[in-house]
Amino acid sequence: MSNLHIRIESLRSTGAYALYDSVPQPSQPFCWAESLGDCSVEMDKEHLISSGSITDELVRVCGASWCHGRTSIVPKGHFKSSILCRKHNNQLSGVDQVGASGLHLLEAALLGPPDDSNFESDDPSNDSNKSLWNPSKVTDGNILERWLLKHTINLEVMEDFSIRPPKDIVELVFGRRMFGAGAGLYFLHAVGDTVKPQRGRLEYVRQTTSVNGQERVIGGLFKLRGVDLLICTQARDPLLPFEIGGRTIQFLHRQEKFVFNSTTHETHSMSYKWQSSQSNH
Ligand SMILES: [Zn+2]
Repeated sequence: MSNLHIRIESLRSTGAYALYDSVPQPSQPFCWAESLGDCSVEMDKEHLISSGSITDELVRVCGASWCHGRTSIVPKGHFKSSILCRKHNNQLSGVDQVGASGLHLLEAALLGPPDDSNFESDDPSNDSNKSLWNPSKVTDGNILERWLLKHTINLEVMEDFSIRPPKDIVELVFGRRMFGAGAGLYFLHAVGDTVKPQRGRLEYVRQTTSVNGQERVIGGLFKLRGVDLLICTQARDPLLPFEIGGRTIQFLHRQEKFVFNSTTHETHSMSYKWQSSQSNH
């Protein structure tokens, strides 16, 4: 299984693009959650990345196999494919909201509140971004994990429409099963790290392990606005160091609080709440 590193960036329209690229569609719409059963007859087009987490009207993508080695630019409203049925898509709308809100909070933490000159809004009269700026807001970490795993599946399924995630993985996304002890979300940062904020930027790096000589996807490293989050369906040894970008770092499993010191705006923290991690099977 080859490496996969997809870069997705929110892009403002300059009107300079006469032609946009399109996202590939399967010859027959399907639902990657079909192992749960009870799919609706109606199929939906699923946003590859929740639209609420894309700030601008265009999406710039590179690294996906369907980009064929170049950069694709797709209107945000068309950044979707027929890979989920309507029922299962609707069941994840709450997960999408929490993920998008968590991302806006993170962006605001890194770039300052929306009225800061660093936080650009397309429409100054629209204060929806502002309402998301709430430093005391706590992100539900367990739902954020489900959001990241859902996007791992979306991006992997887009690499090969014949892929169907195993039922136990789909159950994690739909909250019908808890992540096992030691699995879930790892923050790949150490105290004192400097984070370079990247507005509207999201990267996905496939994580695999070898099982009986076969490579299997076990999660993804997400670089969200410059913060590195690893979603893992299997337990990792937190004491094992991790190599990323030429530096060695430690894992922080299900961290509850981060404090950001900024040179441009006031210091504040981000908090995550967690249910106890135990497998319910
Ligand atoms: Zn379905």
